[in-house]
Amino acid sequence: MSGILIVSEHLNGRAARISKEIVGAANALKSGIDGPLRVLMLSDGDEGPLNDMNLEGVDEIVIVNVGSAHFDASIYEDVTIELSKTLRPSLILFGHTANGMACAASVAARLGTGYASDIIGMKVAAGKLIATRSAHGGKINLDLAFPDKRVVTLTIRGATFKAPDSAGHASVVERESTRGDGKSHIEHVDYIDPPAADIDIAKAEIILSVGRGIQNADNIPRFAAIAEKLGVTLGCSRPFADAGFLPKAHQVGQSGTVASNCKLYIAIGISGAVQHLYGMKHIDTIIAVNNDPGAPIFGFAKFGSNVDSLALADALEAKLGLS
Ligand SMILES: Cc1cc2nc3c(=O)[nH]c(=O)nc-3n(C[C@H](O)[C@H](O)[C@H](O)COP(=O)(O)OP(=O)(O)OC[C@H]3O[C@@H](n4cnc5c(N)ncnc54)[C@H](O)[C@@H]3O)c2cc1C
Repeated sequence: MSGILIVSEHLNGRAARISKEIVGAANALKSGIDGPLRVLMLSDGDEGPLNDMNLEGVDEIVIVNVGSAHFDASIYEDVTIELSKTLRPSLILFGHTANGMACAASVAARLGTGYASDIIGMKVAAGKLIATRSAHGGKINLDLAFPDKRVVTLTIRGATFKAPDSAGHASVVERESTRGDGKSHIEHVDYIDPPAADIDIAKAEIILSVGRGIQNADNIPRFAAIAEKLGVTLGCSRPFADAGFLPKAHQVGQSGTVASNCKLYIAIGISGAVQHLYGMKHIDTIIAVNNDPGAPIFGFAKFGSNVDSLALADALEAKLGLS
């Protein structure tokens, strides 16, 4: 029994970012886990995702043509189980995504493997896999061991591990599956893309983000003008997006967007709820402005101020010639 099997995801002919990040996470484990690093790809023969996943560290890309590019949990589940019995990996990795969550636990249960979800760290210590996940609303991290389990299945949190920068030299192997007929109980009808947005939180390098501490939605245009004048991207916490005062594309966090390329994050009137932190706590330089010195965001900020958010807006407007 050996190796690591990554069950990859793809959409519209491109590999999902999470799948590439899992390769980065798996590469760090390769010295502790004997055997190849394999990527499993269920496809309709499209080579786009295949090329995307040929990343440094990947030894083999296993393709199973299931006649469809669309995700189907029951097909992913059956094919992963079938191939795991043949390839005998000791670690099976899915993304902690809607797709990964739809089949990873059933794969683990049916194969009788160890299982943990939403993993943010992995290492091999004394020959045993240790996986880290957070608990109690993100307040503590747990290191999990899997005694007596020779195989472990994990789902890996997005925007946590770095995808390899360079391409690899993976061999490509096509395998058959009994689910290769693509027969399914569900039918893919359509994708509904989110409304087009003028900003991309995932790509932004500097974000000025506003939360309920700016008092009310009437103040959003003030901060939007400041952000525009500074040439930075306007982000927000969920309440303003939920209420429709800013498009969802501006929301940073677990159910919004992870600010994965951000270098400087300025959080104004944001408390630092775990779901918001999910999207920004990894950023090197965080500046928090919050009139409550006990706000959780200060636990993650490099610089902080207890100045009133609207006093800050007044000062910035004066400085930037906006008043
Ligand atoms: C499943 C789920 C998913 C979620 N996903 C997300 C997500 O993706 N992104 C997200 O942001 N949230 C998300 N949330 C909501 C999250 O739990 C919080 O409710 C939300 O982040 C709070 O937003 P906030 O910090 O703006 O507001 P609050 O928590 O109300 O914080 C406002 C802050 O402003 C400060 N303040 C008040 N007045 C002033 C002032 N005059 N000057 C300066 N500071 C002031 C206060 O001290 C306070 O800390 C999610 C929740 C759930 C359950």
